[in-house]
Amino acid sequence: MNIKENIEAIRADFPILKREMSGLPLVYLDSCATALKPQCVIDEVVRYYTYLGANAQRGDYEMAAQVDYALDAARKTSAEFINAKKTEEIVFTSGTTEGLNLLALMITNQFLKQGDAILTCETEHASSVLPWQQAGLAKDIPVNFIEVDQEGRITPENVEKAFVQYPNTKVVVFAQVSNVLGFNAPIKEIAKIAHDHGAYLVVDGAQAVAHHAIDVQDMDCDFFCFSSHKLCGPSGIGVMYGKFELLDQLRPIFFGGESNARFARSCDSLVLKKTPTKFESGTLPIEGALGMATAMRYLMNIGLNNIHEYEWELKQYFLKRAQEELQDKIKIYNPNAQGGIVTFNVYDKGQLIFPQDMASYLSNKGIAVRSGQHCAKLMGEFLGVPGTVRASIYFYNTIEDIDRLVDAIKDATVEKCLDIFF
Ligand code: PLP
Repeated sequence: MNIKENIEAIRADFPILKREMSGLPLVYLDSCATALKPQCVIDEVVRYYTYLGANAQRGDYEMAAQVDYALDAARKTSAEFINAKKTEEIVFTSGTTEGLNLLALMITNQFLKQGDAILTCETEHASSVLPWQQAGLAKDIPVNFIEVDQEGRITPENVEKAFVQYPNTKVVVFAQVSNVLGFNAPIKEIAKIAHDHGAYLVVDGAQAVAHHAIDVQDMDCDFFCFSSHKLCGPSGIGVMYGKFELLDQLRPIFFGGESNARFARSCDSLVLKKTPTKFESGTLPIEGALGMATAMRYLMNIGLNNIHEYEWELKQYFLKRAQEELQDKIKIYNPNAQGGIVTFNVYDKGQLIFPQDMASYLSNKGIAVRSGQHCAKLMGEFLGVPGTVRASIYFYNTIEDIDRLVDAIKDATVEKCLDIFF
């Protein structure tokens, strides 16, 4: 679909874009935090509650069978969305963070031994660092950090170097797309390096899935986690993908009514259900799974490559205006990251406008952006600033949204930003 030609129709799909913020038409530039929801996703969630209603994978009546059918279809759509080889490679979780925590616990406890090590990256989101640090405590398994290049990119050369420095690395874990700088990591090359050294590759796909066509088979990653809410679906649901032979070897962390096929009084009587159901121990957020699948179909219909190109075009427009009109006012940290993430700070006569103050000022102008450390606390050390402002552009944004952002930045002063609070 040509997004530019259909932008009005696309925007009409998102009822929230009709609302105002601070008395002005909303400019939503915080889609990396969570994406807005199209009417079809909202309708699907409502359809579950108004028409389907039953629990999944338990009932023997027609309405329950309809829910089972819908949930199976949602799993199939999820597999298609990331080109998984088998539907059984899709485990529903509550989101990226839960998937990454489950993997850290299961892999550390079941696949690793004392002396092994984990490799991540200094610019990572907390959910690719903390779960492994905590899971590794009991076995004394350290988390080491890949250095990034000057711009903040993960390079295959640096991953290769890290394997020389930390030869006991057994797991490499990082985000395909950084939520702060937006660079798209060369996963396929890194998967090869990891596998050549006998390590697993776990990918945090939170920021990638909504902006890139994902092909887990081509990338050859071992695990890939993501959240529905970043791709226009409901919150509280996501996917933990794993290669079937690996998922099948792993024993779940949680147990309950849905994960067991049989149990008796003795501990060793437990017979688990097959992969992936053995990981889904209780009632799933069914409406979330159905809504997520609807969101995936919606994005696939627009075309992930079209989405990526459109965001990059709008970002280039922002960069052009910034270069022409904001030269002394703005420092942009990721001009070369192709996509919709623009991370910057604003200056007033050489003085930094504190990013949170800038975000509040923009809010007063009807513009929603994120500010601070973006859950990637080590990134601040890398950039050498206490925080940044992040505008994340998505396919429902327009040139006019970018104009409003540039005009607001142009007009910002330290005084005006502080005036909001007094
Ligand atoms: N990883 C990255 C790169 C993210 O950007 C986020 C969310 O912003 C997460 C993980 C966590 O996602 P969730 O809060 O949906 O679990």
